[in-house]
Amino acid sequence: MSKTVLITGASRGLGRALVEAYAAEGWAVHAVSRRVGDLEAIPSVTAHEMEVTDRRCIATLRTRFAESKLDLLINNAGNWGPTAQDLGPIDPQVWLETLRINTLSPYYVSEALLDPLARARGLIVTITSKMGSIGDNGVGGDYIYRSSKAAANMVVRSLARDVALRGISAIALHPGWVQTDMGGAQAPLTIEESVNAMRRTIGHVTSRDSGKFLNYDGNELPW
Ligand code: NDP
Repeated sequence: MSKTVLITGASRGLGRALVEAYAAEGWAVHAVSRRVGDLEAIPSVTAHEMEVTDRRCIATLRTRFAESKLDLLINNAGNWGPTAQDLGPIDPQVWLETLRINTLSPYYVSEALLDPLARARGLIVTITSKMGSIGDNGVGGDYIYRSSKAAANMVVRSLARDVALRGISAIALHPGWVQTDMGGAQAPLTIEESVNAMRRTIGHVTSRDSGKFLNYDGNELPW
């Protein structure tokens, strides 16, 4: 039987490419997006229209998967936030909105899907960022994005400990600096390079890696 993956932020960028790659490999793919668009035109893709910060949407997802198995969850949906987020009068509402997307939604989506993940002894991959690495921050600035991803890293770490007894693993994964709407055209990695490397890394993850923060190439990163 084919394996099943659910990917959030499937409309474009890394999420869309992950959907296409897993579908081409024969996985049953659940693509979560607030704009379903042509996602269902991709063979073996089921699209779910959803705003990842909406608890009602997450409750619907929980119900849809109540009897299912899920081998892999990729919490990919993410948001940079405003262009200007260096030291200054940052709008707290804008900061909180980014936290809701980048930090809270991976927690709530994962929590809603623990039963289907446990049935498959599955893996939760949360796409965070090296920008959220405290050890790697030598330049400062970018308060909103950095804090949202650092907090997401901590969510992953706690989750990994809390779900181990159910046979579920969880990692945080940095995709590299990639040529997407968020990464910009000057980024060194193409979407294809990042997605191929991430899929290779995800394919090699075992329960011994649970709780790690990995680079797209499989190397461990400093928290
Ligand atoms: P894009 O900006 O290209 O795509 C972001 C995706 O997230 C879109 O599908 C978007 O949907 C979705 N999304 C954002 N907010 C919400 C929401 N509230 N509800 C549902 N979906 C939402 O970004 P990337 O593909 O580059 O980024 C993917 C992940 O990788 C993100 O978590 C990002 O932080 C991370 N990352 C990216 C890096 C890079 O260099 N590109 C570097 C490090 C980390 P919609 O189309 O509806 O807006």
